[in-house]
Amino acid sequence: MKENERTEIKVSYDPSTGRVSLPPVSVIGLGMMGSALAQTFLKEGHQTTVWNRTPGKADALMKQGAKIASKVNEAIAASPIVVICVLDYGAVHEILEEAGEILAGRAIVNLTNGTPAQARRTAAWVTGRGAEYLDGGIMAVPQMIGNSGALVLYSGSEKVFQTYHPTLKGLGALNFLGEDPGLAPLYDLALLSAMYGMFGGFFHATAMIRSEQIPAEAFTELVVPWLQAMSASLPLMAQAVDTGDHRTNVSSLYINQTGFVNFIDACREQGISTELMTPIQGLINRGVAEGYGTDGLSRLVELIRKPV
Ligand code: NDP
Repeated sequence: MKENERTEIKVSYDPSTGRVSLPPVSVIGLGMMGSALAQTFLKEGHQTTVWNRTPGKADALMKQGAKIASKVNEAIAASPIVVICVLDYGAVHEILEEAGEILAGRAIVNLTNGTPAQARRTAAWVTGRGAEYLDGGIMAVPQMIGNSGALVLYSGSEKVFQTYHPTLKGLGALNFLGEDPGLAPLYDLALLSAMYGMFGGFFHATAMIRSEQIPAEAFTELVVPWLQAMSASLPLMAQAVDTGDHRTNVSSLYINQTGFVNFIDACREQGISTELMTPIQGLINRGVAEGYGTDGLSRLVELIRKPV
């Protein structure tokens, strides 16, 4: 087999025995997430080779049957599919640059968190060395990997995604977003911003409640259903964004502007910080100042897209 034919390796299924022969997998990076990935590949029955910059982190995996590579090149050479999950893209490049020619013909699946531009640059760099590149965004904590709640977003080489679908689906639900390698990190970071926005709202609301010594846990009985009810309005807001028609019969920016004054005053009266809320007030005020007072809150998406 020629070097550049390695990504053609398919998972084979023997109908007479009902057994699937899984390809060997190499995992680079054994932090909390990389270890969970390697452990899942082992559980799924893959021959799994692992490498980590600092030795010693592979001991538990070795007991579960992992092969330990002493050098990164040894790990990359061991498998047609190489999954990388390290701190950041700087680390990814340090590792791949050391690998050199051994990369050619392999499928590199990078599950390290980064930006769309970093993913696109890394894809160009990897494919320039004769390998295939698939980027991924893990929407889960390590304990969820291999369970039904985990989701991994992918973009980049569809050939790699299709070829190794049976391997990748062991990690959790998967979603291929397109051939642009920047899409997985874009969606990943967009979903994380939605999560931080929700957490931020909860943190602020809880600080308000705690200013009167009300137990936070009891408050969740109100705040959880409230957030669930409010999330039902997201598809309508999304429709307004897609059509550009932000007219509302629910709640205008004018009304929200007035409500926010009370809101910020109440925080000051209760002696709590307004740091999380004043950026939203600033956007609402800008929307009104730019002439969008009668529009609904969905107008804020357009303002965020045009920073001043
Ligand atoms: P950890 O801090 O537990 O592990 C970091 C890993 O990166 C270690 O294996 C570390 O090696 C390695 N590393 C750091 N710098 C270098 C370098 N210069 N060269 C080689 N290896 C290096 O992080 P996680 O495992 O939690 O996270 C890994 C990635 O997964 C991150 O991009 C993170 O954002 C993403 N992720 C993590 C989630 C989580 O809940 N943990 C959730 C979703 C995504 P060493 O042991 O030698 O320090």
